[in-house]
Amino acid sequence: MAIMNVQDQLRENGLKTTNARQKILDVLQTNCAPYTAEEIFHKLKKSRIDRATVYRNVERLAQAGILRKVDLHKNATYYEHALDHHHHIICTSCGTLEDFHIENCNTGAIKSLSKHALRSSKKFSAVSEHSLEFFGYCKECSKI
Ligand SMILES: [Zn+2]
Ligand SMILES: [Zn+2]
Ligand SMILES: [Zn+2]
Repeated sequence: MAIMNVQDQLRENGLKTTNARQKILDVLQTNCAPYTAEEIFHKLKKSRIDRATVYRNVERLAQAGILRKVDLHKNATYYEHALDHHHHIICTSCGTLEDFHIENCNTGAIKSLSKHALRSSKKFSAVSEHSLEFFGYCKECSKI
């Protein structure tokens, strides 16, 4: 995936470039994994950006579609960079997480699933996006 520079990402999504937004995106671009706003705040400790600013901007970046929320079945919202569309498999015992890509994510099996969802739906006429995570046990945890 070609990584656009942070200013371009913000501009394309109609957001002003601020120091906090740049720093947040830098963190999530260098660490390609989902993080909570709290974890991002801790990674940015040195930049002295206050907690409220981090939380507010992470949410704003998610609204703009630059970040996406990932549901890891934990009591916190996780965010990751949305540029590279992919899915996760997560160990429910130790939390190990792996990314995986599905070829033709919007045309193949996922497309027929979304068609199925629409056919069985009374209230919806379009599917615009999807998220798909799998939960299970990693090899280490399966040994126990
Ligand atoms: Zn991911
Ligand atoms: Zn595990
Ligand atoms: Zn997908």
